[in-house]
Amino acid sequence: MANPPNAALPPDHVTVIGAGVVGVATAFALRREGLPVTLVDRDAPGMGCSYGNAGAVSPGSVAPIAMPGVLAQVPKYLVDRFSPVHVRLEGLHRTAPWLVRFVMSARPSRVEQISRALAQLQAPALERYRAVLKDVGAPELLQLTGQLHLYPDAAAFAKDAGVWRLRRARGVAVEDIGRREIRQLEPAVGERYGCGVYLPNEGMIRNPHRAVEAIAAAYAGSGGEILRCEVRGFENGAEGPTHLVTSDGRRPVRRVVIAAGAWSHRLVAQLGCRVPLQTQRGYHLMLPTPGVEIRRPVVAADAKCFATPMEGGLRLAGTVEIASLEAAPDFRRARALYHHGRRLLPGLSDADAREWMGHRPCLPDSLPVIGPLPNAPSVIAAFGHGHLGLTGAVVTGDLVADILCLRPPSVDLAPFSIRRFGNRPSPLPVRGN
Ligand SMILES: Cc1cc2nc3c(=O)[nH]c(=O)nc-3n(C[C@H](O)[C@H](O)[C@H](O)COP(=O)(O)OP(=O)(O)OC[C@H]3O[C@@H](n4cnc5c(N)ncnc54)[C@H](O)[C@@H]3O)c2cc1C
Repeated sequence: MANPPNAALPPDHVTVIGAGVVGVATAFALRREGLPVTLVDRDAPGMGCSYGNAGAVSPGSVAPIAMPGVLAQVPKYLVDRFSPVHVRLEGLHRTAPWLVRFVMSARPSRVEQISRALAQLQAPALERYRAVLKDVGAPELLQLTGQLHLYPDAAAFAKDAGVWRLRRARGVAVEDIGRREIRQLEPAVGERYGCGVYLPNEGMIRNPHRAVEAIAAAYAGSGGEILRCEVRGFENGAEGPTHLVTSDGRRPVRRVVIAAGAWSHRLVAQLGCRVPLQTQRGYHLMLPTPGVEIRRPVVAADAKCFATPMEGGLRLAGTVEIASLEAAPDFRRARALYHHGRRLLPGLSDADAREWMGHRPCLPDSLPVIGPLPNAPSVIAAFGHGHLGLTGAVVTGDLVADILCLRPPSVDLAPFSIRRFGNRPSPLPVRGN
C-alpha cells in the first residue's frame, strides 16, 4: 500500500542527497532562502568526484565532449589503453548504448543547441563563485587567472578548430598565441608546445575540496542539517517519496533533490525514471614539490592533461576512462599524466606524488539534468555535470532554489529536462515497508 503524505516535517523541508560540490552548493542556496534543509551523504562532504578535479572554473567551456567527427575516434578509444580517452573492453556490452547516444549527440545541429545551453548555464559561474566563497569566508580560493590551452604545432591545433570556433561563436574571449606569448605567460612551459589559446576570462579554485568543505561548514553554521548515511531507496506516496530508506533506517522527506553525482541514475530509477548516466573516470596526480611554477591552469590540449597550481602543490588532472562504478582504479593512468606533464613542464618533479581517481557523472550530450521528475514533481534532479561540475555547481544550486521557491529560473531549463531521455509522467513504483 502507498504511504500517506508525510506530516512529520514542515511542508517546505528539502532533503538534498549527495554532498559533492553540486549538492553542497544547492543545500547552501536553499538555506539562504530560509528553507529547512537536510543534506545526506554516505561520506563526508566533498569526498566524491568533487574532491580531486582540476579546479578550473570554465564558463567558456561551451563545446560538448562529443563533437562532429567523434565516431572516427571511437576505435582508438577502444584499443589504446593510454589514449586520453579509453573505453574498457570489459563491460562494453553495458557501455555501448551510452556510446551510441554519445556519438548521436555529435550531430552539428545538436552540438549547436548543447553549446547554447552550456553557455547560458555557465555564464554567471565566476561571479556566483565569487559571491558564495566571499559569503562562506573563503574568497581566496577563487582566482581569476585565465587559462592556457596549448598544442605542439598548427596541425594538432587544427584538430580542435571546431571547438574553438564554437567557443568564439558563443562570445567567449579566445586569444590565439604563439611561442613568444607562451614564454611570457608561463616561462616553465617546454619548447614542445608552440601554439594555442589564452582564455583571459576563465578562473580556478585553488583547492576544490576545501571549497566544498567551506560551503558545507557555512551551510551547517546557518542551521542546515548534515546526515551521514547511504540512501538505498524511497517509499513512495501518490505524489512522490514520503521516506528515504537509508543505511540508518527510514527518514521522512517532503521535497528531495537528487545530487548524487555518478550514482544518481540508481536513485531516479527507483522513482521510475531512466537516464543514461555513465561514469567517466578521471585521475589526478598531486605533486607537492613540483619543482616548477605556473600561475594558472595550463592544459596540454593534445593529451587532455590539466596542470593547475593549487594549495599543496601542482595538480595534473585529466584522462577519460569509461568503465563501471565498481571497477578497480587503474592508477597507471594517473602515472601517465606525469609523462604528459613532463612534456608540458620539463622541470616537473614527481617527488611524493599522490594518485587519485574520481567518477565524473556524464550524460551522453554533455548537459546535466536540472529540474523536477515528471512523475514526482517534489523531486528535483541536479546531476550529470560531467567534466564541468565544479564550474556549474553554484549556478545549479541557484536554479534549484528558483524551482523550489516557485520563481521563474534565471536560465531556460528546457534543455536540461530529464524528459529528453523519454521520461514521461507515470505511476510511481511503490516499495513495501
Ligand atoms: C580528473 C577530473 C578533473 C576534473 N576537472 C574539472 C574542472 O577543472 N572543472 C570542472 O568544472 N569540473 C571538473 N571535473 C568534473 C567535476 O569534478 C564533477 O563534475 C563534479 O565534481 C561532480 O559533482 P557532484 O556533486 O555531482 O558529484 P560528487 O562530487 O561525486 O558527489 C556526489 C556525492 O553523492 C554521494 N552519494 C552518491 N550516492 C549516494 C547514496 N545512495 N547515498 C548517499 N550518498 C550518495 C557520494 O558519496 C558523493 O559524495 C573534473 C573531474 C575529474 C574526475
